[in-house]
Amino acid sequence: MAATSHYRGRFAPSPTGPLHFGSLVAALGSFLDARHHNGEWLVRMEDLDRPREVAGAADDILKTLASFGLHWDGPVVYQSTRHALYDAALERLTDLGLVYGCACTRSEIADSSPEGQQHIYPGTCRNGLPAGRPARALRVRVNDHLACINDRLQGETRQQLGREVGDFILRRADGLHAYQLAVVVDDAEQGITDIVRGADLLISTPRQRYLQQLLALPEPRYLHLPIAVTSQQEKLGKQTNAPAVISDNGNQALIAALTFLRQPLPGQVAHASQEELLQWAAKNWDITALPRQRELEAPAIPGG
Ligand code: GLU
Repeated sequence: MAATSHYRGRFAPSPTGPLHFGSLVAALGSFLDARHHNGEWLVRMEDLDRPREVAGAADDILKTLASFGLHWDGPVVYQSTRHALYDAALERLTDLGLVYGCACTRSEIADSSPEGQQHIYPGTCRNGLPAGRPARALRVRVNDHLACINDRLQGETRQQLGREVGDFILRRADGLHAYQLAVVVDDAEQGITDIVRGADLLISTPRQRYLQQLLALPEPRYLHLPIAVTSQQEKLGKQTNAPAVISDNGNQALIAALTFLRQPLPGQVAHASQEELLQWAAKNWDITALPRQRELEAPAIPGG
């Protein structure tokens, strides 16, 4: 059946800064996996978190992708225009009796949790708000759900959500929909069959799988690529002042990203145009060669 062999991938950047080497790796990996499968490749701008957004970053990211020859299919989708979809999903989960209001602040959660477990919600408001305290955020009950995903590169990941995460946030105290909810709704609504992204998000995937099951949404295939880190093992990003990647005639950043992913390079790589390099890399994309590590040190690239 054609429908089952159809592939639709996506790159979903947050506009919190320019495209750096780490985000180029994720963009290139998802692009090549899609093109290797003769699939579509979409770009979705994850601009829900307006307080963290950097003015001009969304346009800048799109221009940079295009300058690297990473041309997407169809119009770019902006999460900031899709609140109605997230509200509808929240309503479905509420109808299932799984959503509750939570009055806790971050420091209250930290104070009431044992050392090393401050990231796990202890369930304080699960059976009702404390007297006189208004709800700030909305959480979903996870009960004792065991979420399981099978990643094409990282293998099986299991998470006992109750023990390892706790009831998690769907709508934040500032009224914004949480990433976990929006990403699940959008991937399903856009008909995404394959998610290729950084391994830092592997930890979030069981929560996303849980929401997909509750909302009766299809399960995409997952491939979590190693993320680029500094020599101090910090993820490249705003905190590490990761420089913007710049496309150049010698394709240095693309070659560095392919090398980072341990992908083969064409024999005459120095003479390949950008288009030739990308076509060759898509044809020869080899997931068995990808490094299994979840973090790898980024190379020094000129202009990057
Ligand atoms: N917007 C997320 C980020 O930039 C990626 C989300 C995803 O690929 O699921 O980290």
